[in-house]
Amino acid sequence: MAALPPPFLTHLHKSNWMMSRDAHEAVWLKPGRPDRRRILDDHGYCCRFCGLISRVEMDIHHLNGNHQDFDPANLCPVCPFCHASFHPGISGLAREAVMVIAPDVDQWSLNRLALALYVAEQSQSELSQPAAEMLTSIRARCADVISVFGTDNPYDLSKAFLDLPREERQRASSYLTALRIFPLPRLRQKDRNRFDELLTNFANAPGGAFTEMPVAQWPTYAFEKERVHAAGSR
Ligand SMILES: [Zn+2]
Ligand SMILES: [Zn+2]
Repeated sequence: MAALPPPFLTHLHKSNWMMSRDAHEAVWLKPGRPDRRRILDDHGYCCRFCGLISRVEMDIHHLNGNHQDFDPANLCPVCPFCHASFHPGISGLAREAVMVIAPDVDQWSLNRLALALYVAEQSQSELSQPAAEMLTSIRARCADVISVFGTDNPYDLSKAFLDLPREERQRASSYLTALRIFPLPRLRQKDRNRFDELLTNFANAPGGAFTEMPVAQWPTYAFEKERVHAAGSR
């Protein structure tokens, strides 16, 4: 199978990749927009990309990148981490994510692993420490990105990519297949960091992500993914 460039590059649209989170929110406030709850409900509250199911903290993604196209076929539930993968302008400028080299895991599995690890870290169980260490070791992979590209910032890299002529872009994308976006514990909304609140809602709110699963099992879930991840990189 041909190696595909990571989704944050293939889905970059000049018109929206720099859209702020507030602008993103504003497109829903105009009259005649579909009911967001209804769209989430129709899709079982399941992130189209990583498969995470949650009745809280889910966004809606515009599949074709056009944030004015509200055709039901163009809309699907998306978790915050997967959504951020499509908007490197937002996540890069606010330093909410770094680029890492991770050819052994796809972007969506990495997003889910990150969520499980962040929740495990916050769980105040005996696994908080190992989860924290694992997060540190994954984030450290940004060093390789810096040594090759001179930056680990998704904003800078996406901008450089978009500035290439079209045929150069095609060629560059094959070099970039190993790149992934990795979320940092920051989610700026209305001038404050909502990240801890996001995790708490996922872990505790009724219908939140993995709430069916006892918290003690979250780290196990994460570590299983990480074993696959670690084995693949050898
Ligand atoms: Zn997702
Ligand atoms: Zn969007």
